[in-house]
Amino acid sequence: MALLLDALLPPSCAACRQPAFRSDAFPLRLCPPCREGLEPARSPAFPDLPGQPREWQGLAAVFAYGGAAREVVLRFKHGRAFALARPLGTLMAAVALRERLVQEADLVVPVPAWPARTVRRRYSAPALLAVEVGRRTGLPVEVRAMARVRPPSADGHAGPRRRAECVRNAFVVRRPDAVRGRAILLVDDVVTTGSTAAEVAATLKAAGAARVDVIAAALAEPVGV
Ligand SMILES: [Zn+2]
Repeated sequence: MALLLDALLPPSCAACRQPAFRSDAFPLRLCPPCREGLEPARSPAFPDLPGQPREWQGLAAVFAYGGAAREVVLRFKHGRAFALARPLGTLMAAVALRERLVQEADLVVPVPAWPARTVRRRYSAPALLAVEVGRRTGLPVEVRAMARVRPPSADGHAGPRRRAECVRNAFVVRRPDAVRGRAILLVDDVVTTGSTAAEVAATLKAAGAARVDVIAAALAEPVGV
């Protein structure tokens, strides 16, 4: 397995691309300065979003969204680092187990991506992470349980209110039989304002999901606190 990963991942730091070699069991290959710059995610305290009551029960993430973690997640998210799905998914599964989100869940579902964006980036980051989380936890995965039917904001720096408006009614459940009555572990790459997770969770709840918890690779500092 290690040899296979070495073949897929060039021997360079996943964040800064400088030469780096894995020195221990940590799944992500990082050079020492980037590794030292990683911060674990802090427990979130999202303020209530405008018109968006929080619909998830629990939320956990591997990293605080900054420094090397931000570089790794952005490279993966933007379609340039397919092979990062496995180490990131492995870390997410471990955190979801530690935070007892896996123990509550029946099914893993990714935050659905806008189709044109998936084509451009060649893959959907949340979908790949969901598959890895399922593989590591033994939970079933429904990659096509949901779909995004409204495009994401072109403005990546939109504020919380604008973001909440952009995601309103943006998602649909395509497979209601799969989610009805089930506890869903929702997978995303990065949670920033929480408005996307809130809208997806609300959509799942409206389709009859019993419970939604969220696991992300990275979590931004809570807004407004
Ligand atoms: Zn580095």
